[in-house]
Amino acid sequence: MGSEKTDNKKSYIQHIGIISSCFPEKFGIPRQPGLVAHSSAVIDLYPPFNRAEMVSGLGEFSHIWVQFLFHQAVGDGWRSTVRPPRLGGQKRCGVFACRTPHRPNHIGLSAVRLQGIELGRSGPRLHLGGVDFLDNTPVLDIKPYLPYSDAIPDAAAGFAAITGSDAPEQIRFTDAAAEFCRRYQLRYQRPLQNLIGELLTADPRPRSQKRKKEFGMRLWDVNIRWRMEEWGALVVAVDFWQAEGSCG
Ligand code: SAM
Repeated sequence: MGSEKTDNKKSYIQHIGIISSCFPEKFGIPRQPGLVAHSSAVIDLYPPFNRAEMVSGLGEFSHIWVQFLFHQAVGDGWRSTVRPPRLGGQKRCGVFACRTPHRPNHIGLSAVRLQGIELGRSGPRLHLGGVDFLDNTPVLDIKPYLPYSDAIPDAAAGFAAITGSDAPEQIRFTDAAAEFCRRYQLRYQRPLQNLIGELLTADPRPRSQKRKKEFGMRLWDVNIRWRMEEWGALVVAVDFWQAEGSCG
């Protein structure tokens, strides 16, 4: 058979498009879709998959499945077991028993809200809500969400059913932070204050940093700093993110 022998255990998968999301970095991204309603993203499709006919009929569905590549985990390789945050970061479980990015093919799967389809000159742009994607995430496939078969309300959820958290009960903004969010929303039609409020309520703090008081994260082109208080979280500053050394 010589060197042409093909390895039938490997496949070639094309990226059909790219995601632009409100999350320029991993810190703060919800661990699953639907947890932060005001998080948003768009999918732009690459030629030859960017023909309008390829999404015809998709607009009738309220939600879609997006299969994507955890592109920022590929370099870390994969693990046979991981310590899910839900288990306090102590207990291990098999990689196929959880949704970690560090899996053999680094493929992610999210059911997200389809907020609209814009047909532009470079092809369809899908507007999404309630997302858990990092900015610049490659898209592998898109499918409609079928409630009659995809929703299994009485399914057992294993360790993922664990509830109860010490998430902040109240989220407050300083006047300056609230004012920046108000102006930002007016200028860019981005619900920044709602998004920050929902993200902090979902508690992005890693278990290992729960004693820390001050935190920062980035959304779109904005830097957010907040402080943990007895009663909850205080957003102390929101301003445009300045790249190192830029004079703004
Ligand atoms: N819903 C998907 C699933 O179940 O396959 C993703 C679940 S995974 C736990 C969600 C986390 O993956 C996010 O909180 C973020 O930290 C990480 N993530 C999102 N997009 C990524 C990317 N492109 N590369 C690496 N990690 C990413």
